[in-house]
Amino acid sequence: MKPETWAIVGGRPSDPGSPLNVPIYPSSNFLMGGERMYSREEATLGWEAFEQVIGGLEGGQAVAFASGMGACAAVLGDLPDAGHLVLGDDCYQGVAGLAAGGVRDHGWNLERLNASDGQWVERAGVADMLWLESPSNPMLDVADLPAICGAPRGERTKVVVDNTFATPLVQRPLELGADVVVHSATKFIGGHGDLLLGVAVTRDEELLERLRTARGLAGATPGALECFLGLRGLRTLPLRLRQASASAAELARRLEPLAAVERVRYPGTGAIVSFEVTDSDTADAARASTRIIRHATSLGGVETTMERRSASPGQEHLPPGFVRISVGCEDVEDLWEDLSAALSSARS
Ligand code: PLP
Repeated sequence: MKPETWAIVGGRPSDPGSPLNVPIYPSSNFLMGGERMYSREEATLGWEAFEQVIGGLEGGQAVAFASGMGACAAVLGDLPDAGHLVLGDDCYQGVAGLAAGGVRDHGWNLERLNASDGQWVERAGVADMLWLESPSNPMLDVADLPAICGAPRGERTKVVVDNTFATPLVQRPLELGADVVVHSATKFIGGHGDLLLGVAVTRDEELLERLRTARGLAGATPGALECFLGLRGLRTLPLRLRQASASAAELARRLEPLAAVERVRYPGTGAIVSFEVTDSDTADAARASTRIIRHATSLGGVETTMERRSASPGQEHLPPGFVRISVGCEDVEDLWEDLSAALSSARS
């Protein structure tokens, strides 16, 4: 079955007379005597359906978390004390924060490499964990996932890919040999900027159990409403991503020759485009004068958002005029009119 079909038909009730959609089960307790007792630990039907669909799309078994950070913390928590972690030099700042905490509290040996660095392949043979974001947030660096995920690796080495930006419709790292895929399902999977949700997907049964245990112990359990919304988001992910990616590619193409724009970053796929203008004032003036494109952080929604990333805490190292746009599903001509007018007014 094609992913576009599975996203729509997966995880639905099938008994005659049952509802077409999995209902929301807002219950922390279950009556004793059945297989479920308490919602922090045992999956309710809502989680299972969400996990089943995203697991099917990524080609593994999924564990849903209360947020992307919940998923990232559980997976990173699998790294042993004094473990060797290789992390992209450009990655979500929350993950960099977790890694810094691990160095301090667990003696992790942290090494940072650019996503495009050839040394990842060699590190697969020696490190305990490789953590790749590809494309990376926010620089959109791309890693050679087939080479890295397929490289000979140490017995204990885990290769983790944060697939938030690409989604399983663009790349399926588990099929390339990765051990774990993580997502901030808050982004493209949810797709409407109205929930926090995360997921980790793996084919490793023992790791799967450890992740479930970590979720329950940390209380990083997703809510029933969030799982419902996450599943509903998955139903339209292929359509949304197709529209948004086509518009992103078009905007990247039209930004390239603009005099106001110094550099465009677009990895050739997906709905995120980054570009640089000369300085932070120009970037701020541009984002302040858009009418359709909203000034907001986060990404992956049907609504187009724009942000000067160096204004975000922990991102001060980025070029001052670095702007990230998460392209949504509005008409591309409206988006271009809005963006190009904002850039010309910012320059004058
Ligand atoms: N991974 C990436 C690539 C992200 O962009 C984010 C959030 O922006 C996260 C993980 C963390 O996800 P969440 O905000 O859902 O906790």
